[in-house]
Amino acid sequence: MHLIDIHTHYIGADSRHAILNCTCHIPGRNISLGTHPWNITNNWQQQFAAIEKAVTELNVIAIGECGLDKLKSPADIELQKEIFRAHALLAEKAEKPLIIHCVKAYDELIAIHKEVSPLQAWIIHGFRGKPEQAVQLARAGLYISLGEQFNPDSAKTIPADKLFIESDESNTPIADIYDAVAKAKGITAMELAQHTAQNAVKCNIIL
Ligand SMILES: [Zn+2]
Repeated sequence: MHLIDIHTHYIGADSRHAILNCTCHIPGRNISLGTHPWNITNNWQQQFAAIEKAVTELNVIAIGECGLDKLKSPADIELQKEIFRAHALLAEKAEKPLIIHCVKAYDELIAIHKEVSPLQAWIIHGFRGKPEQAVQLARAGLYISLGEQFNPDSAKTIPADKLFIESDESNTPIADIYDAVAKAKGITAMELAQHTAQNAVKCNIIL
């Protein structure tokens, strides 16, 4: 059974089953492309145009990470929303899932989700929030990815058909993160891996 790593910045991650977040092509790697809310500059339109051009490449699996961050982005929330919407529409056009970074802006995110009404999957990465928040997101149809710093109560609450696992910035083996989340959910890592593999297919992710 493959352990899919839905989002990583770690170049040492399993190249076959991990989606590497990057800003340029790395031959032989499955990648996602997007403008992180921390990295918004005055040149964002130029950056975005380059992303738009590159998304048709075979190894671009997803759009992102992109999103909203009320704590750490240099851009104000209105500009962040504009850039995030642009990524969401690109995901629709490219028929690829969207990988989302969201900090203290879940209401805004859910409002944009309603407005865009996407056919493509939206995946919240690195979710550390509370169970109530997880339930709200899953009910809205979003997928939730857990990394090393997950909240065990939220892990219990997230429906298995809305769950992903990631290593993000950590170089902890993805198998260890699967073990920890599976334990919190009271299932085996193998069962968890079956769910994430099925979810990947539903999200149009072919690794
Ligand atoms: Zn990340």
